[in-house]
Amino acid sequence: MSRELKLLKSLFSRYYRYAEFTTDFPRDLPRREIALQLLENEAMVRHLSFNSIEDLRKYVVKNVPSHLYYSTAYYENPGVDDMDQKGWLGAELVFDIDVDHIPTPCKEEHDRWICENCGEAGRGSKPEKCPKCGGSKFRQISWICDKCLEVAREEALKVIEVLDSDFGVSPHEVYICFSGHRGFHIHVDTDVIRELSQDARREIADYMRLIGLRIDKFFTKRGKRTYSRLMITSSGIPGRLARSLYEKVIEVGTQVAREVELVLEGKKETISRKGIKLIEKLLPEVLPSIRCEIDEKVLIDTHRLIRFPNSLHGKTGLKVTPLTVSELERFSIEKAIVFRKGSLRVRLHDAPPKLFDMNLGNCVGRVLDLPMYVAIYLICRKVATLEE
Ligand SMILES: [Zn+2]
Ligand SMILES: [Zn+2]
Repeated sequence: MSRELKLLKSLFSRYYRYAEFTTDFPRDLPRREIALQLLENEAMVRHLSFNSIEDLRKYVVKNVPSHLYYSTAYYENPGVDDMDQKGWLGAELVFDIDVDHIPTPCKEEHDRWICENCGEAGRGSKPEKCPKCGGSKFRQISWICDKCLEVAREEALKVIEVLDSDFGVSPHEVYICFSGHRGFHIHVDTDVIRELSQDARREIADYMRLIGLRIDKFFTKRGKRTYSRLMITSSGIPGRLARSLYEKVIEVGTQVAREVELVLEGKKETISRKGIKLIEKLLPEVLPSIRCEIDEKVLIDTHRLIRFPNSLHGKTGLKVTPLTVSELERFSIEKAIVFRKGSLRVRLHDAPPKLFDMNLGNCVGRVLDLPMYVAIYLICRKVATLEE
């Protein structure tokens, strides 16, 4: 085992001795499958089950995981490895917001790709084909920054708002976690939700991602007149759409825009063809603000494994951090730091331009004394090695 791995193993193990595992999130631990990836050899261990938090703790202190998961599903026999024998009893609904899936402009600043065939490299997300050799295999080096997390945070808040306004799931009924790396998980675990089929979950996913949204559905023709259902006071998608459109329309300033303004305000019932045309034109600009950028695969999966609250993320050394809505509103990554004490002398083989509050852009190749959590983050990302 490398010195870096030995260090991580001892730090992670010590952390798990006192980690804040609770009985209310996840609920009903004995009904959950527990899975983990071992830090030592990256082997995946599945189909574990524990009757108590203390049993789980004992296990992970000894078998130190780089990643610790629990099943969003409840099972009669969570420890059985045959999925058909597990006895599915229901599952949480989990909205996964990962900035990896959301295009952010800052990716150009901190992400790089390298063609595995010819070594060509570039900034941002990997292209479909290498511009030099046409190859399609790349090594993607991705980092996150405050802007990335800000985008993810906004998306998470949007999901919580839609759950509240359109699904009647109050913010007090959701469990929120910072994933420990690039995003947030929002868990809903009410009696009604738990029993939803995969098809029902897919409908929720489509609704939130505005799949199949047709603007003409909000207009009704009666005789020569067309009536609009888009009003800023409406509930659900028509209301959110109207409110976003309204912000854009007041900037346009034409006669038609004024008409649409009145329609959206609910002061005018009918809408002209030109008014509809204007709405159609503005639509692509407003859709991103009402579309929820969630991972559909995670949402519809009724057998999903998801990160255990207050476990460590093995790619960052940060904590999978449970948050209240107001904590999410003012979230900063510092809240997820675990290894605050001390410092480490490491050699940097790669680094993002900025990590936490440190500018590391010019430090690649150098040996540095870094705060413990910064060094651990970089060691976890396999871009730093220990120096004497
Ligand atoms: Zn190439
Ligand atoms: Zn970024």
